Amino acid sequence: MTYRIVLVPGDGIGPEIVDGAVAVLNAVGAKFGHTFRFETVLAGGCAIDTFGVPLPEETLKACLDSDSVLLGAVGGPKWDTLPGHLRPERALLGIRKELGLYANLRPAKLQKELAAASPLRADIAARGVDLLIVRELTGGMYFGPRGRGQGEMGENAYDTEIYSKGEILRIGRVAFETARKRGKKVCSVDKANVLESSRLWRETIHALAAEYPDVACSDMLVDNAAMQLIQNPSQFDVMVTSNLFGDILSDEASQLTGSIGLLASASLGEGTRGMYEPIHGSAPDIAGLGIANPIATILSAAMMLSLSFGLAEEANAVEKAVETVLASGARTKDIAAGGAFIPGAEMTRRIIEAL
Ligand code: NAD
Repeated sequence: MTYRIVLVPGDGIGPEIVDGAVAVLNAVGAKFGHTFRFETVLAGGCAIDTFGVPLPEETLKACLDSDSVLLGAVGGPKWDTLPGHLRPERALLGIRKELGLYANLRPAKLQKELAAASPLRADIAARGVDLLIVRELTGGMYFGPRGRGQGEMGENAYDTEIYSKGEILRIGRVAFETARKRGKKVCSVDKANVLESSRLWRETIHALAAEYPDVACSDMLVDNAAMQLIQNPSQFDVMVTSNLFGDILSDEASQLTGSIGLLASASLGEGTRGMYEPIHGSAPDIAGLGIANPIATILSAAMMLSLSFGLAEEANAVEKAVETVLASGARTKDIAAGGAFIPGAEMTRRIIEAL
């Protein structure tokens, strides 16, 4: 099979980590007999420098014409003072919106060998962390009516959480379908004791759960979920939640694994095309030093293989190769805990060798 992948390396460490993922994809292609065709486009700060806008038309068109998009990271201090509509992050929002990517999937898995890097107590870490947060990405508080006014106590401001049944159903389906391929458990996180939007969320998820009798469904209030993630994370398989709650809980969950340089993410919509990216930013403090950890981007490419291309065996091979290399003791600087470390490119080379 031939797959067309648009690469959006972006800024800072973006180009070096995307290079690593491309090398791994090429190795997967050679091993399993697939062809990956790559087209590289500009978005973010580098696009502002070249075209004056963070998301040029040709970049968007290339993404729309692709089978999937692999993104490095965008942004950096050089562009921090630009007005909102010209900020590098606009490129991400624009691609998500135009591609209709409403589901954000963020796995958080603690590798046994890296337990010492996790802030979890040893006995809790020993029980393992292998969960996936499914966050609604295009609705809720971040997109509802907002404004400022005057009240009895002076100036006020408001944001509005609105969810429709249709939006909850489609994100719920992503969670249940994904759980079917994992541990067959969905925990829906809401604030149904207080918020009307959460009550609709809960009712809708319950109705949907009836269509998935093979998946165990439970509810949890968001405040409890924040505690349970620290106290007993091994209980979770798939967690599904709103845009706002997911934003916060997925960052909390990512910290359980020890390093931001290891965590992948996928953004999906209808159809198979998605956008895949590490959860970290452009790390301008280490850009060009060759020490960036490529693993988050390599694992993002693995998610693309399984979720967009249906290549589960290939994705599994990449994940296993990463685990093997970490188990061998190889460390990039961010996970070396002050000990010896290898450059990012050498980490990529070893992952390919293990593959
Ligand atoms: P960051 O994630 O870039 O960096 C935080 C810390 O983690 C830094 O010390 C960095 O060196 C380290 N780090 C991050 N990725 C690493 C990797 N792969 N290997 C080793 N170390 C790594 O967050 P920040 O410093 O807050 O943001 C820097 C820029 O990135 C900002 O302009 C921000 O807006 C942007 N950003 C972009 C995205 C994105 O493109 N999706 C996400 C977050 C932040």
